[in-house]
This record gives sequence, C-alpha cells and structure tokens, in this order.
Amino acid sequence: MTTTAPKGAPIIELRHASFGYADQAVVTGATLTIRAGEVVAILGPNGSGKSTLVRGLLGLNDHLGGDLELFGQPRESFSEFARLGYVPQRHTLSASVRATVAEIVAVGRLAHHRWWRPVLRSTRDAAIIDRALDVVGLNDRAHADVATLSGGQQRRVLIARALAADPDVLLMDEPTAGVDAANQQVLSAVLARLAERGTTMIIVTHELAALADIVTRIVVVQGGRIAFDGSRDEFATRTGEFESAADHHHHEHDNRLSTSTLPGAPSAGPLDPRGGG
Ligand code: ADP
Repeated sequence: MTTTAPKGAPIIELRHASFGYADQAVVTGATLTIRAGEVVAILGPNGSGKSTLVRGLLGLNDHLGGDLELFGQPRESFSEFARLGYVPQRHTLSASVRATVAEIVAVGRLAHHRWWRPVLRSTRDAAIIDRALDVVGLNDRAHADVATLSGGQQRRVLIARALAADPDVLLMDEPTAGVDAANQQVLSAVLARLAERGTTMIIVTHELAALADIVTRIVVVQGGRIAFDGSRDEFATRTGEFESAADHHHHEHDNRLSTSTLPGAPSAGPLDPRGGG
C-alpha cells in the first residue's frame, strides 16, 4: 500500500513540460503544480490540447520535454499509477459486455491485487466497492447488468471504478459531456459530493457553470499552452479573454447546482473503510 498525499502536498508538478504524439509536440511549455485537495477545472477550445495534457500526466501519450513529477518523484522512476484515477473522455461500456455494475467497479480493485480471487473474497474490497457505488448513487443497481444502464449511469459506473482503486487524485476528461441535462445534474452532484469529501480532482470540462461551486482553480489551455492559471475569482475578472474556453456549448438548462442541495453525504474520509492511512 502507498501512503496518502496530505492536503497541500504537490501531486503533479510540471516545469516547461511538453506532451504529444511521437515527435509532434501538442502541449508545450507547461508549468503547473497541482496540490492535494485542489479541484482544478481545465478549460479550453476543442483541439487545444486538454486531453493530451491530462493523458500525458498519466503516461498515455508521450512526455517530450521538460520536467514532470508525480507525488514528488520524477515520472521516469514513478510506478504508483494506482494513485492516479482516470475517467476517460466520452467513454461508455460496450453493449456486449456481460457483467454486473459491481463487477465492473471491482476491476478498480485489481490495482491492489495480483488476480481476481482476492478481490472476490475480500470483505474489505467489497466494502470499498459499496462505498464507491454509494458515492455515485448506484448502490441499488449493483447487481444489474451494465448493458441495461443509460450512458449517464455508465459514466457513473466508470467514476466508481476509478474511485474503487482508492486513488489520491481523480483525473476526468469531460465527465459530463454527451449526457442529457438530467444526468449532467446527477454527475455534477456526484462531483460535488467528492469535492466535499476532500477528493483531489482534475476535470477537463466545457461545463464550468455546472461545477463552479466546487472548482478551486481554473487552468485554460489554448493552442497547446497554458493561457491562464488562477482562482475562480481571478478567472471571473478576465472571462472576456477566455470566452471560448468556458461554456462554449449551448445549454437548454441551467446546470448550476449548489452543494447545499445535495443529500447529506458523509463528510470527509477516504473510501477506505479502515478510515484511511
Ligand atoms: P482537446 O482535449 O483540447 O480537445 P486534444 O488534446 O484532444 O485537444 O487534441 C489536441 C491536438 O492533438 C489536436 O490537434 C489533435 O488532432 C491532436 N491529437 C489528439 N490525439 C492525437 C493522436 N492520438 N495522435 C496524433 N495527434 C493527436
């Protein structure tokens, strides 16, 4: 087991980093430190390099220059990828997947085991899976066939799967995109509940309004460069400059959602039923 990053500890540090594909740099000169406890929204026009940046942090595309440190360790010597939870973009499960919701979420536990049997036997794993399903509001669907779930519900299954690995940070690529307004509200509420629990999150999004209450920091990527990095208030004073970065999709409904409208979620505490550590 790894230790949990204390609040304020650097989780991701970039200095003049570039990321891309083969020898083609898409993101260049990125300097950024993200600390435990932050909820960072990454905004920017389509094609500006947001996914490339996030996937670059995870080692899913190439790190082409500059420094990248994860949990204080150089990327090259870092191996604890279970500490980084990832929910990929526009991802739903194949209609041919024959599995229950709980089985898909259990895959998240594999990061901590060599093979399935310990996951299936362990009451501790079962408790973590239950908690993850609880956070995303899918406890009552645990034994449902995933193929019977809507796209928005499947997105929540994938968030639960990432949570089940008990990561120190959750990186999500447009978690609310491509789902209907009602499901967007549910997803926003799930993210708000995670923020209340102190979960560190990096969220690529076009729906800043829906997340405005939980975001502590905004990073704007334009043309592969970090064009803005600051607080929500700082962003608000310069919003004209980055009009294309936020909410450039048109909404039929106002998705603004206050955390105060959430049902009384248990405050703080990681998913680990041992109480953390
Ligand atoms: P965003 O997430 O901001 O929409 P992306 O990071 O997806 O932007 O894309 C940024 C640029 O990287 C685009 O020009 C895109 O064509 C290019 N790109 C994305 N994925 C790949 C890939 N697998 N191979 C080569 N180029 C890619």
